[in-house]
Amino acid sequence: MAIHELTNQPEIWPPPGLLPAAPDMPGWGITIWRGVCGRCPRCAEAPIFNGYLKVHAKCLHCDAALGDMPSDDAPPYIAMLVVLHILAFIVVMIFRFGWQPSAFEYGALLVLLVVACMVALRMAKGATIGILLKLGLTRPVLP
Ligand SMILES: [Zn+2]
Repeated sequence: MAIHELTNQPEIWPPPGLLPAAPDMPGWGITIWRGVCGRCPRCAEAPIFNGYLKVHAKCLHCDAALGDMPSDDAPPYIAMLVVLHILAFIVVMIFRFGWQPSAFEYGALLVLLVVACMVALRMAKGATIGILLKLGLTRPVLP
């Protein structure tokens, strides 16, 4: 067991004070897949999103607290990580293998990358909310 360097106490997960993870959640793979698909990670009966990225405060079917999950910067980071790998492949094709796209192909690639960013961001946000819901990590209420 690891000892925390500042408190000199054993590290416990989840830390004291956090809500326990939801006991009725499915396994990790199913939870993340449901989030990626934009469905409630707990029940898969209702959508997570109310629009493009706005999250329902509670699941419309099982009342899971979807709106309390602080998925702040993780989804854009994950989306950039995925989409920039696609961009890196295209750059390698251009500079390493001599591919010379036309102006139309450059325009099409730009549109494709923008659409890929938007799709990846929504999928990453759903997956992040699923992970946070399974861990029981809610946004702290400030006094
Ligand atoms: Zn639900």
